[in-house]
Amino acid sequence: MTNIILLGPPGAGKGTQARHLTDSRGMVQLSTGDMLREAQANGSEMGKKVADVIARGELVTDEIVIGLIREKIAEGAEGGFIFDGFPRTLGQADALGELLAEMGLSLDAVIEMAVDDAALVARITGRSTCGGCGEVYHDETKPWAADGKCTNCGSTDVKRRADDNEDSLKTRLMEYYKKTSPLLGYYYAKGDLTSIDGLSSMEAVRDDIAKVLG
Ligand code: ADP
Ligand code: ZN
Repeated sequence: MTNIILLGPPGAGKGTQARHLTDSRGMVQLSTGDMLREAQANGSEMGKKVADVIARGELVTDEIVIGLIREKIAEGAEGGFIFDGFPRTLGQADALGELLAEMGLSLDAVIEMAVDDAALVARITGRSTCGGCGEVYHDETKPWAADGKCTNCGSTDVKRRADDNEDSLKTRLMEYYKKTSPLLGYYYAKGDLTSIDGLSSMEAVRDDIAKVLG
């Protein structure tokens, strides 16, 4: 069993790679972003509370996301966990270390997907996903088919995130550099960090991650 963190700025491709690892290795993806969007879709009290913060591109409190992750870790995962979008602050990183230790689990690798800022803006501003299956599309590099149907599942439900606009993206990048990028030093010092080039093709990134996982 392998537990890993995918670390990188918004738009680095963490979700795409996590989906692949789920399919190919039976790992369980824990995306706090997905969990928070689900809470909003369900109309829960917590979902309502965080909606504005997320739309602006700011981080929600450590307390909320640590609570979400604690529940999921307690459920266990035979193929291991992929932490995607968590931890995002040093406080979350410490909390994750404690939660894993409590469950007798270890962290096997932290993979940084390095991407430059100009590429991120281009990737994110054209992004959409399929409401049916989660397939990720991009207006320029991977557009929807002419008939408007998802090539994977046939759904016509095109979803765009409220925070995938230029203003929110600026805030998300600033939050990343101020609060999340210190985690690179933190995990480097612990000896857990491997950096890969997130700008290579999807397949090359896949291979790089596979090499780290062995
Ligand atoms: P991306 O990586 O594309 O920015 P995510 O889907 O991971 O997006 O997260 C979307 C938003 O959800 C974040 O901008 C933030 O508001 C909130 N969020 C997700 N994960 C966390 C976290 N670990 N800590 C605080 N806020 C989070
Ligand atoms: Zn689909």
